[in-house]
Amino acid sequence: MITMSELDFWLDLAGFPRYFEVMMGNFIDALKSSFPAGFFTQDEAELKTYGRDWTKVHEPKPSMVCFPTSTDEVSTLLKLCTEYNVAVVPSGGRTGLAAGAVAANGELVLSLDKMRAIGEVDTLANTVWCQAGAVTEAIHEHCKSAGLTWPIDFASKGSSQVGGNIATNAGGVKVIRYGLTRNWVLGLTVVLMNGEVLRLNGSLEKNNTGVDLRQLFIGTEGILGVITEAILKLSPLPRECDVFLFALKDLSTVFSLFKEVRKSGLTVNAFECLSHDCLGLVLHHRNLASPFSDRHEQYVLLEVERPESADAKEKLEAWLSELFAGELVQDAVLAQSPKEAQNLWAMREGISESLSNTGLLHKHDISLPIHRLQEFIENWSADIASNYPGLKPYVFGHIGDGNLHINLMKPDAMEVAEFRKLCAKADENMFAWIQKFEGSVSAEHGIGLLKKHLLKYTRSETEIALMRQMKQVFDPKGLLNPGKVL
Ligand SMILES: Cc1cc2nc3c(=O)[nH]c(=O)nc-3n(C[C@H](O)[C@H](O)[C@H](O)COP(=O)(O)OP(=O)(O)OC[C@H]3O[C@@H](n4cnc5c(N)ncnc54)[C@H](O)[C@@H]3O)c2cc1C
Repeated sequence: MITMSELDFWLDLAGFPRYFEVMMGNFIDALKSSFPAGFFTQDEAELKTYGRDWTKVHEPKPSMVCFPTSTDEVSTLLKLCTEYNVAVVPSGGRTGLAAGAVAANGELVLSLDKMRAIGEVDTLANTVWCQAGAVTEAIHEHCKSAGLTWPIDFASKGSSQVGGNIATNAGGVKVIRYGLTRNWVLGLTVVLMNGEVLRLNGSLEKNNTGVDLRQLFIGTEGILGVITEAILKLSPLPRECDVFLFALKDLSTVFSLFKEVRKSGLTVNAFECLSHDCLGLVLHHRNLASPFSDRHEQYVLLEVERPESADAKEKLEAWLSELFAGELVQDAVLAQSPKEAQNLWAMREGISESLSNTGLLHKHDISLPIHRLQEFIENWSADIASNYPGLKPYVFGHIGDGNLHINLMKPDAMEVAEFRKLCAKADENMFAWIQKFEGSVSAEHGIGLLKKHLLKYTRSETEIALMRQMKQVFDPKGLLNPGKVL
């Protein structure tokens, strides 16, 4: 990338292509003399792979992919990129759902794939050091033998990286118990575009010394700096867990059940809600049998940590009987083995995949204050049913965290353009409600390229202006993940 004034100058001279060629040639020479062979690739297949994330909406078009192995190498690389005005896209496991790691405009992709080291678990502090390219699940496996875990958990954990999780402040199915990624990061090493290395907070739990700069790099999708190392905070592995699937008569009962669960004193790992249509789709797609003989409007998957007492299971069963006696639930199953628990989880975790494999979707990942959720879902569902009867809604999500995954599916007979037009129209009301109820247009997936136009529904003009000023401070040439978020 070159700056606008330079671009104008060279376009005036009709010399831009030549400028670009010479500049890129010099940059490549500089890379060759600064790094070992194999540090970068321009292989077409690699460019395609590393230029896109899970969204697959944009045509990948990076100029090269670089594979640094250390913070020092990232620093040298970013210094050179600044010198030669080369735009950079930080790239983790590329499981992002907002197109934050997409390189569609000739950017250099900085992959963390060769920075996967994980240190010894510190069982005094309950922490572990790692490089940012360590895969989320590898951290889980690494810490297991010490009886500890990094409690960031979702379906893409086998590919996503710690750096990507931190850059997106990832959520997942256990947020109700553990909170977001932000809560589980003690120290960060970050490299700025000018090559400067910041080592932020180390392994300190307490450090009240002014602005906590570390937090600026968590959830900002790689637009301020490249995360190269982290000191992660660990939690004891949960004891044995119990998994229930409840069948409920309507949405309002989902919230009544949630209140009962809160009152019960149980340690809740997950409280996930899915509509009848979502369950039906997973059962069909995965060829599974329904655990219930009748049709019910809503289902809730509840996972709790089993209390530490000899009669814990009996107590849970007694609690379940009380729910039946109070007619709060229409039906329920309590998994009797880890295998059964896994099968119940499959009905929740298989939804995204089943939806994607069934048809074209218009998707949103939104959040609302929990006390506004019911009103929001009812308003939105009624709007879709009366004004867009052809569009099929699928709603599920992390109800306990106020986070909904909202999907509209294209009917087979509808043209794609017509579908997109109707969805855009339906979104207008949805975003008006989100704004009115003080919700968020992106609960956990981030803004990236896909949701930039929606930022205004959740963030004020002043907030957005301040974010732009921050971007200017950390990356004055606008070379890091350009066009993302802001
Ligand atoms: C099946 C599936 C299920 C999912 N479920 C959930 C879920 O429940 N909850 C949830 O929150 N997300 C979920 N996601 C989304 C995704 O997995 C998370 O956002 C994850 O944290 C992204 O990590 P990544 O390493 O793949 O990042 P990438 O996709 O590679 O990058 C994401 C963003 O972070 C930036 N980035 C990456 N690495 C760095 C770095 N080292 N330094 C600076 N910036 C960096 C990128 O530039 C980009 O902007 C799911 C995705 C899939 C495919």
